[in-house]
Amino acid sequence: MATPGSRPRGRSVCLLTVLAAAAVLAAACAPAGEPAAATVSPTSVLPTASADPYVDQRESMVESGIVAWGITQPEVIQAMRDVQRHEFVPAEYLSQAYENHPLPIGYGQTISQPYIVALMTQELNLEPGERVLEIGTGSGYQAAVLAELDVEVYSMEIIEPLATAAEERLRRLGYGSIELRHADGYLGWPEAAPFDAIVVTAAPDHVPQPLLAQLEIGGVLVIPVGPVGGYQELWQITRTAADNYESISLGGVRFVPLVREGQGG
Ligand code: SAH
Repeated sequence: MATPGSRPRGRSVCLLTVLAAAAVLAAACAPAGEPAAATVSPTSVLPTASADPYVDQRESMVESGIVAWGITQPEVIQAMRDVQRHEFVPAEYLSQAYENHPLPIGYGQTISQPYIVALMTQELNLEPGERVLEIGTGSGYQAAVLAELDVEVYSMEIIEPLATAAEERLRRLGYGSIELRHADGYLGWPEAAPFDAIVVTAAPDHVPQPLLAQLEIGGVLVIPVGPVGGYQELWQITRTAADNYESISLGGVRFVPLVREGQGG
């Protein structure tokens, strides 16, 4: 099924990508109106590799919701196998941790659908050792998946309690090398720029100029763009030269909004 995309403003070249699973993209991130957990509660169980009660559920999610839906990069598939998503969801949603849909994480925010995490990660075309910036740490799940690819991960979150909880969780799970910052990701992380890749997990209504400026030449930005609750499109934007960017539409999606400092952060 083809998802028609609109050409982004500017001098970008726009190609359409046909995604068999495009219809499902609409469930990328739950609307902010979904029931939200009041707090982020870490689970009390600390499974070891040999005693992980969710191994089978995770494998089933990877086979039926990642591989079967068209994710092909072996490293990304392996990362989806390795990261324990149940550690990133509130206790009351544990039984749904490996279902292929977003879940509330508190403060009106969501942990993204596993397929969308895998798709966005794959479309970043990462090589080991590269530097990637994530906007919207949320639970920390996407950051952990990125870290499994042996890249340097920087991640920013605007809601302080989420930023704090994600930091504790990522440290506890052994993702100590991920750099985290509680700040407005619209402005990027200038001191750590340029980045080989930037992934935005909340939707602004336009592509933030600071993020384009902080991309390495040859670097890739994956970002949903569109109005709150309306039609949003997922873009893969490559910086082909200092002053040129090329965009490819990856289809329609639904993400929580990218908010600016002072607007709810
Ligand atoms: N990547 C997350 C999904 C998070 S949902 C995960 O794997 O769990 C989007 C997140 O973006 C929310 O936590 C929201 O608070 C955050 N966000 C929204 N606007 C932001 C901004 N301007 N800067 C940084 N984070 C932002």
